[in-house]
Amino acid sequence: MKIAVFSAKPYDEDFFRKANEAFGHELFFFESHLNEKTVQLAAGFPAVCVFPNDNLNRAALKTLASHGTKIVALRCAGYNNVDLAAANDFNMTVVRVPAYSPYSVAEHTVGLMLALNRKLCKANSRVREGNFTIGGLLGFDMHGKTVGIIGTGRIGSVVATILGKGFGCRVLAYDPSPNLHYEEQGVCYTGLDQLFSQSDIITLHCPLTAQTHHLIDEVAIAKVKPGVMLINTSRGGVIDTKAVIKGLKSGKIGSLGLDVYEEESNIFFEDFSGTGISDDVLARLMTFPNVMITSHQAFFTREALENIAQTTLGNVANLELGMNCPNEVPSPT
Ligand code: NAD
Repeated sequence: MKIAVFSAKPYDEDFFRKANEAFGHELFFFESHLNEKTVQLAAGFPAVCVFPNDNLNRAALKTLASHGTKIVALRCAGYNNVDLAAANDFNMTVVRVPAYSPYSVAEHTVGLMLALNRKLCKANSRVREGNFTIGGLLGFDMHGKTVGIIGTGRIGSVVATILGKGFGCRVLAYDPSPNLHYEEQGVCYTGLDQLFSQSDIITLHCPLTAQTHHLIDEVAIAKVKPGVMLINTSRGGVIDTKAVIKGLKSGKIGSLGLDVYEEESNIFFEDFSGTGISDDVLARLMTFPNVMITSHQAFFTREALENIAQTTLGNVANLELGMNCPNEVPSPT
C-alpha cells in the first residue's frame, strides 16, 4: 500500500525501510508534521503514518478522508492526538503500536530518577572542567524509599518491577483497573490521596484522557510530600506545567524529570540551538537546576524502533488484506 509517513526523521526512514523489506509497501517520507495546514501533502495516499506530534483533529481528518485516506497508522502507543469520533464519522480505521518495548520507556524513567537524584549531569560537567569536588551533589538511597506509580499498564508495571525488585523500593500504585498479579509481586494499590501523601517519588504512566488531563495540578501538589521527585514520561498534558513551576518555586516539588511536555508538539524533535525557544513556560522550567528534561526520547531504543516499524507496517498489511487488526483503536462509544 502507498503510505505517507509524516514527521519522519532519518532514523525513522532507516528502520521503516529495513522492516518494509518483509512487506513491500510504497513508503513516502515527509519531514513535515501532519495537521490541518499540511494535510494536502497526503492527497492520494490511502494510508498515513503519524507520530504523537502530528495533530489529526476533525478538520485534518475531514480533508484526509476527502482525498481518499482510509487508514491512520500511529507509530506509537498513545492516540490522544487523533479525534477518534471524527475518524469514525469519516470511515477511517486508526491503528497503533500498543506495545513495542515497555522496557525502553521504563528504563529511561528510572534513568531520569537516578540522574536527578545523584545530579549526574552537574557532576559530569564539573569533572570535565577539572572540578573534582562533590559538594552540592548529595543524593539519597533509592532503597527503602516509597515510589508512587500512577498507571500500572505495560510501562508502569516494568517500572514497578525495576524499582521494587531491583532497588528495594516500597511500591504504591494507583490504577482504576488494578492488576492483582502485580499485587502478588508486592505492589500495593492505594487511592490517589494516599499515594500523593506517602510517596518520595511519583511517576506517571497513565494515558492522557479527559480524566487524567492535569491530574497533577495545584490541588494534587498541595497533597504531595514536601520535596517529592515527580517524573513524567507519559504525556505532557497529565501535568499542569504552570502549577508544577509554582511547586518547584515553593520547594514543595523537590525535583522534576520530564520526557514529555504539554506544548511539545512544535518544539520537541527540532533544533532551536541557534535561535532559542519562544515557549516561556518551558524556558522557565529549564532555569531550575533540579529539573531534567529530555525531548520525548524514552521510547528511543533500537529494539523499540524495530518493533514499531514492523508492527506499523504489519497493521497496514492486515487492513489491506481485509483482515481484522488486533491493534485497531476502537472508536469511542
Ligand atoms: P497501557 O495502556 O499499557 O497502561 C496504561 C495504564 O494506565 C492502564 O493500566 C490503565 O488502566 C491506566 N489508567 C487509565 N486511566 C487512568 C487514570 N485515570 N489514573 C491512573 N491510571 C490510569 O499504556 P503504556 O504502554 O504503559 O503507556 C503509558 C503511557 O506512556 C501512555 O500515556 C503512553 O502514551 C506513554 N508513552 C510514552 C512514551 C515516551 O516515549 N515518552 C512511549 C510510549 C508510551
